[in-house]
Amino acid sequence: MSTLIFFDINGTLIKRDERTDIPFSNAVNTLLSTENIMEGVDTSARSDKDVFMEVLGKADLEFGEKLWQDFLSLYVKQLDKFSNTDVWRENADAVPFVKELKKEDITMALITGELSLGAEYKLKKIGLWECFLTGGYGEDGLRRFDIAEKAFEKVKETTKKNYDKLYVIGDTVLDIQTARHLGAISIAITTGSHSREKLMAEEPDYCIDRFEQVKHLFLK
Ligand SMILES: [Mg+2]
Repeated sequence: MSTLIFFDINGTLIKRDERTDIPFSNAVNTLLSTENIMEGVDTSARSDKDVFMEVLGKADLEFGEKLWQDFLSLYVKQLDKFSNTDVWRENADAVPFVKELKKEDITMALITGELSLGAEYKLKKIGLWECFLTGGYGEDGLRRFDIAEKAFEKVKETTKKNYDKLYVIGDTVLDIQTARHLGAISIAITTGSHSREKLMAEEPDYCIDRFEQVKHLFLK
């Protein structure tokens, strides 16, 4: 029996607060010569590329490959600049949980709106990047379901295995819907963007405050 667990990043593995998106905002503001164009833009559970397109719309600009590449080079500079600060911290008990599963050789992958660039910086910072086989990222699709399908495809291509137990762990209603979309068991965590009430209304299979609460599903 093979188990595959997908993790969201922001609000799930990484603690989400008003500072999480600073490198992204700084890069966008530098690119567009604005000060706070991200104000009022809801980034939660969205693809970074989709957010970027919305912001361009606010500035009356159209998306183009040149703008995107310029943004990426500014973004990597910002990620680098912030990599030695504490803007990215472990959420709840994510680090010991993921490391224990890794020791048991459980396959783990990411489903995130974050660009792979940002995902790598953030997860390296908390020492978890190497624990994930692959992932679906912000550049893999504009919508969460597309990103999730891509992530699943990449895992299957890499491992050539079939999985009979799929899980999706995330902090938003969209993560629960994504689990359903993939035919996976959903584990909602209350430490991010959505309240327990809001998550429960979507009827996740599990709703937790800390990862240790579902450890028994994966570890004997
Ligand atoms: Mg999230």
